[in-house]
Amino acid sequence: LQFKDYELNEEIIKALDVLKYETPTEVQSKVIPVALRQQDLIVKSQTGSGKTAAFGIPVCELVDWAENKPQALILTPTRELAAQVKEDITNIGRFKRIKAVALFGKQPFAPQKAEMTQKTHVVVGTPGRVFDHIERGSLPLNRIKYLVIDEADEMLNMGFIEQVEKIIKLLPKDRVTMLFSATLPEVVKNLCRKYMSEPVDIEI
Ligand code: AMP
Repeated sequence: LQFKDYELNEEIIKALDVLKYETPTEVQSKVIPVALRQQDLIVKSQTGSGKTAAFGIPVCELVDWAENKPQALILTPTRELAAQVKEDITNIGRFKRIKAVALFGKQPFAPQKAEMTQKTHVVVGTPGRVFDHIERGSLPLNRIKYLVIDEADEMLNMGFIEQVEKIIKLLPKDRVTMLFSATLPEVVKNLCRKYMSEPVDIEI
């Protein structure tokens, strides 16, 4: 099966064509159909497997262009990964005119806050800075329908899990949650039990 055989909008198919993505990787072929049905997901897979597009494609497909407030929140453990994921989402969502914003620390707050006053579909960020934006009123959460926790085991290693949990507690309950991790330590499994409903387990 190729991307053009998936139930995806023409705009997304065209963007994948430009990116020269023809055939889904293993993680993509397992994740995308489930994510498009809007089921919660726990995905055990390594970086380099194409996992960014595995969540990026369904997120770009599912967000409503007409909505002004953010609909997807993607949490990453590092600034570099946040920037990369934002870039990938922007590329996949190019022809749908999806606006993605990256929010991470060690950068001035004001320009990020200014950017957040514009129409934004997808927010990608590190937990600390994302939480700052929530507290300071520049990141509304009431339209968030999709939450992606990327590299959950790294979040744990870096001491961010509590921050992640604080953010999850503030999100609308009616949402889809996808968690990606190379390993599934007990703390991460607990987070899944607490905040997901009947998740589909995928292991690559
Ligand atoms: P990731 O695991 O998300 O960091 O992706 C690893 C690399 O694979 C990135 O450089 C992507 O641009 C590339 N990639 C992801 N999916 C595909 C695909 N279906 N076909 C070709 N390249 C891909």
